[in-house]
Amino acid sequence: MQDTLKHRGMRNKLAEVLMAKGIKSTKVLNAIRTIPRHLFMDSSFEAHAYQDKAFPIGADQTISQPYTVAFQTELLDLQENHKILEIGTGSGYQTAVLLLLKAKVYSIERQLELFKKTSIFFKKLGYRPKKAIFGDGYKGFPEEAPFDGIIVTAGAPEVPKPLMAQLKIGGRLVIPVGVDEQVMTLFIRKSATEFEKKEFGSFRFVPLLENKN
Ligand code: SAH
Repeated sequence: MQDTLKHRGMRNKLAEVLMAKGIKSTKVLNAIRTIPRHLFMDSSFEAHAYQDKAFPIGADQTISQPYTVAFQTELLDLQENHKILEIGTGSGYQTAVLLLLKAKVYSIERQLELFKKTSIFFKKLGYRPKKAIFGDGYKGFPEEAPFDGIIVTAGAPEVPKPLMAQLKIGGRLVIPVGVDEQVMTLFIRKSATEFEKKEFGSFRFVPLLENKN
């Protein structure tokens, strides 16, 4: 598959759709206009890649809806060189958005099939996360903590404590919390022990799974 002018045109339209739904950040909208989402998906979905919808990516997982990606990224309030931990690499599309916004990205995926696929794909397209990790995001990534931001792209039945602990003061955790449906939740760390919590609309994610071993 290639990236063509036709795809670019569809991306511009998608950015307009997201603006109409309330996405305001110019940086985030530019990322949507720039990143070839169709290349992160199976070729059989190419014609639909710029609809504001989630699609299967294998291993029972999905590439998140563009609105959700944009909404979560806005909540992170990224600044250049922010150190960001992403839980749930999936297709790598959200990772690419974070990289385009000049974050230093550590991304964790627990499905080996997806981890291997994105590792090859990132190299091919020139996306360079600081580290792609095969492992359990419930534990975060203590080796590189603390982070300016942590973004969870799977539905968490409850907020994993290690993720709260791995935030800098002023750092932000963006996490969909809930079982069948999730409330998008933002935690901002105020001090060693205090967090400000804000809740946004409801979303539907595939579940954040805990490794039993
Ligand atoms: N941002 C991705 C979303 C993928 S869906 C995209 O748009 O493509 C959520 C992903 O989280 C899946 O790939 C799933 O395998 C992964 N996941 C679920 N539980 C996890 C865990 N405990 N640790 C790391 N990744 C996890």
